[in-house]
Amino acid sequence: MDLFEYQGKQYFARFGIAVSPGDVADTVDEAVAVAERIGYPVVVKAQVKVGGRGKAGGVKLAANVDEVRTHAGNILGLDIKGHVVRRLWIERSSDIAKEYYASFTLDRPNKTHLGMLSAQGGVEIEVVAEENPDAIAFLSIDPVRGLDLATARRWVNEAELDEAAREQTAELLVKLYDCYTTGDCDLAEINPLILTPDNKVHALDAKVTLDDNASFRHPEWEEFRVNETEDPREIMAKEKGLNYIGLDGTVGIIANGAGLAMSTLDVVNQVGGTAANFLDIGGGANADVMAAALEVISADPKVKAIFVNIFGGITRVDEVAKGVIEALSRVSISSPIVLRLDGTNAVEGRAILAPHLNAALITEPTMLDAARRVVALANA
Ligand code: GDP
Ligand code: MN
Repeated sequence: MDLFEYQGKQYFARFGIAVSPGDVADTVDEAVAVAERIGYPVVVKAQVKVGGRGKAGGVKLAANVDEVRTHAGNILGLDIKGHVVRRLWIERSSDIAKEYYASFTLDRPNKTHLGMLSAQGGVEIEVVAEENPDAIAFLSIDPVRGLDLATARRWVNEAELDEAAREQTAELLVKLYDCYTTGDCDLAEINPLILTPDNKVHALDAKVTLDDNASFRHPEWEEFRVNETEDPREIMAKEKGLNYIGLDGTVGIIANGAGLAMSTLDVVNQVGGTAANFLDIGGGANADVMAAALEVISADPKVKAIFVNIFGGITRVDEVAKGVIEALSRVSISSPIVLRLDGTNAVEGRAILAPHLNAALITEPTMLDAARRVVALANA
């Protein structure tokens, strides 16, 4: 899970990393209220999960209330690389003497952690890597040994950070490494990490990717799962624990496995239909999952017909068939359903469905036949 900058900063703060005081705002008035509370000048920052916000006009300094109004008004609703800004982070503006770069991430081939540190921050690290690779000091960290202060001190010297920044940065890097490991991040990046004119080292940006595989030991991460989507269908799907992405078409799609779900979208398109969604019900296609999937899909008013495409592997088709019938007894579905069931125990599965088939519950022997049928129904 990627965090918004403000969430990343909250996460950093838990590990003792210095960030600027600030707060979130979803409206211009809220932005003003935050600015008045923390004091001018402030920075008004777009909260979108994509880099390069500064260049896109999503980061603006504001010296007074009028400037906060102007910038907040301009940035809210701004489209940055396809991400529409719904939330702002307003923080006390910092004076910048130097901009550095610091990050930790996984070095998978070498089975170590990789630290990157550069005295040339503020620009994208890919650009530095391209144009001036010697300006990045790489540190390979054995996950068992970790990062101690002595090593961090050697590292900041190697990166040739300004003398005044070295000790504070070394201490900060140890904390950032703690955040990255104890905090179960796949990436913890600060760009820019700044040195202020009065010689304070400080994180001005935060890019954090949490390792979803570790979420079981972080119940506190739940609070980060906010504002991910505006689509009411996706919100409903998320509440039901489904892997669903809303699209604009008229054919609702349920498939097991992401690959099959994508192929199903392709085949529906190929025969002249449009998919209303992507939905992978995964391996456990039991009645609960099927009922939840049918409920989410039929709540979408654009859906005219539903395509259930299951290829049984570990998932047994007879279990899926039972799931479909039980689901249909629980939720009432107004759109016709076309099923293609193949793979493990397909014969048994079709036998279970046979007595229930009618004009609104149809099976087809192949994926292509089913796609044609469902598209014909959706376009009727
Ligand atoms: P990004 O463009 O998405 O990486 O957003 P950043 O948070 O890194 O901000 C972009 C740039 O805005 C930074 O590199 C800084 O140069 C500038 N900036 C951000 N915050 C401040 C601040 O408090 N004071 C000043 N003077 N500049 C800032
Ligand atoms: Mn940045």
